[in-house]
Order: sequence, then structure tokens, then C-alpha cells
Amino acid sequence: MVYFDHNATSPLSVPAREAWLRASEEFVGNPSSPHRLGARAETALSSAREKLADILGCDPLDIVWTSGATESNNMVLHHLAAAAPDDAEVWISAIEHPCVLAPAQHYFGPRIRLIPATRSGVVELDWLKAQFQKKRSTLVAIMAANNETGVLQPWQDAVRLCNEYDVPFFCDAVQWIGKLPASGLGGADWLSGCAHKFGGPRGVGFLKCPRKGSVNPLILGGEQEDGRRSGTENVAGILAMIAALEEAESAISKGETKIRIQLQEQFETRLRKSSPDIEVIGDRAPRLWNTTAALMPQANCQQRWVVKLDKAGFAVSTGSACASGKEKPSHVLNAMGFTPEESSRMIRFSSGWETTDHDWQKLLDAIASVSKEMLS
Ligand code: PLP
Repeated sequence: MVYFDHNATSPLSVPAREAWLRASEEFVGNPSSPHRLGARAETALSSAREKLADILGCDPLDIVWTSGATESNNMVLHHLAAAAPDDAEVWISAIEHPCVLAPAQHYFGPRIRLIPATRSGVVELDWLKAQFQKKRSTLVAIMAANNETGVLQPWQDAVRLCNEYDVPFFCDAVQWIGKLPASGLGGADWLSGCAHKFGGPRGVGFLKCPRKGSVNPLILGGEQEDGRRSGTENVAGILAMIAALEEAESAISKGETKIRIQLQEQFETRLRKSSPDIEVIGDRAPRLWNTTAALMPQANCQQRWVVKLDKAGFAVSTGSACASGKEKPSHVLNAMGFTPEESSRMIRFSSGWETTDHDWQKLLDAIASVSKEMLS
């Protein structure tokens, strides 16, 4: 099976696996325990915190370990709901992941405003600037890169703008981290990430919280993480996450994304050549090197594409991992102005560091033969 669904989850990397095995054997104590084995585990966690903080550019003490980005994102909205005044509004990009939109809806209901996106899938900062002239929100949430389209968002400008207007900025950087340099992301007041999108294990993530701020915890009962998140830390998972991130950051710093960008460009050029009716979503905007979301020409065939490509040996997706398999049109494509019919034709191909030119070529061949089969 050739795997083109890395935006849903990525396979465990070799350094992550090794780090996990080593940590499971070396750090047997509970980091909260008072004996030396506990202290050793706590020291390993502190060192992991320092490494992550160094990569992101923030204070290690601002980092809280979580079970993944869904928890981290819920934590942000939960905290704000308790801390903000009753009439506080949250302004959230219309293309956020459901694990940001749903808790925002749960806690803030009618006090959410959606920041619009362009047809290319980029969040409109001009809208934000114009709104700031009239009013301030209690939070602005804009993701770093979209999981369905791969379109990169102007989070650096959003950090500056929110700082200028003194509005807390929250960035879900799940799809950016491990594919592009994470440096500077620590400038966001709140920042979430998870291991399994960049070669770490599932069920591990983090939340970077505002400097010096206290956090209303979502999970109570153990006082771990300075009272910000209860529950025994997943030491082996956390060390494996950092090992995976260090490997990805090293590849990025060596310029290894360049060849991946070329592979993506070649694939898209050949795809358009083979079927001029195919539209690559967000192709006018900067995108992740690993993501091509395409509107296939055949109508109402999203699931059939996934099933037929699966039979041909390729794992692809219809969009967000959570929404896949459900019939609802993508809220991301809707925000970009695509119709439900267009949305029903979207297939997402998301590669990984290990994907080769040969894999992309084989995928093209499979798309061509499935396409022929569907038309016949
Ligand atoms: N945010 C984005 C942008 C995602 O793509 C995902 C996963 O698909 C999540 C959050 C949720 O992450 P996790 O699986 O760690 O809960």
C-alpha cells in the first residue's frame, strides 16, 4: 500500500520508535513520584520541554504536555470561557479544524465570529484589521496550515497584528510543524501541536500557553503540569515526539523540502495534463509541500475514488480525517466559496518525507486508470 494520507496521521519514524523504546526502559518512574526514579523521569521531561521550547522560540515553562491537539485546542476555549467576561467574543477563522470550531461553538455560541477566507483558502487579515478598528475580541484563532488544502496561513502577520491590538492569538500549528520550520511559532500566545502528524506516536501533543498566565484546567485531579493539566505524563510518548520533531527539523534545515516541492509540482503538472478538468485547490496560494487537494472531474464520486484507489494500492483521503466517510460538504471548501457539489469531488493526496518520485508516478498511473474505469 502506498500511503498518501499523512495529513490524517503519519507512520512512526525510526528515531521516534527508538526514543520510545529507550524511554520505556529507562524512565520507569512516575515523573511526580518523590524517589530517584521519579526524579529521573521528571528530568527527562524537563529536557524535552527545553528542546521543544528552543525549537518553537518560547519559555519551556509555557509548555503543557497533552494527549494531542484535540485536547490542546479544547483547553484553550475552555480556559477562555472561564476567564473572559460574559460578553467576550472569539474570532475564529472559518477554515479551522472542527476541534477548534466545535469547542468555540460549545463555549461561546453566538459570540463567535468567523474570519473569512479567500477562494485560494487564505484567511483574510484585512477583515481582521478592519474589525480591530471598531472592536477587540478576546481571542483570534488562525491555524498555521490547513489540513484539507495544505494552504499556508499568514500566522506571522497575525501574531504582529494581534500584538499591536493587544488581542491574544491562538495558532493550531498541527499541520505546519514537522513540515516547515517551527521557529517563531512560540510567538503565538497559545499554540497547539501533536506528534502523530510528523512521525511521532498518536495520543501525544502539547499546548504552549501565554507567558506568566494561569490556565483554567480542562482536566482536574492530579495537579501535574503546574496544575494546568492533570494526568500522569506520557514520558515515552513525549520523548518520541521530540525525537521525531528533531529529525524533521534537521531535514528542513538541510533544505530537504526543495526536492519535495519539486515532486509536488511535477505531480500537479502531470495531473492537469492527464485531465485538464482537474482543479488543484489553493494552487495560487503558498501550500504545504506534501498536500495536493484536487477537485476530480467526475461528479458525486468522492467515496468511489477513495475505494477504487484503495483497491489499486493507494491510501488517499476525501479531506479532513474526522470528516472523511461522512457526507457533509467540507466547511473549509464552503468558506472558500466552493459549492457542495464541487466539495463532493475533492480528493486529498498528502505525502510524507519518505514518498518518492516513483510513488507519485504510480499514483498518477492509478488515477488515470480509475478515471478511465469510472467514465466507461
Ligand atoms: N488540528 C488540525 C489542523 C488537525 O489536522 C488535526 C488532526 O487531524 C487536529 C487538530 C487534531 O489532532 P489530534 O489528532 O492530535 O487530536
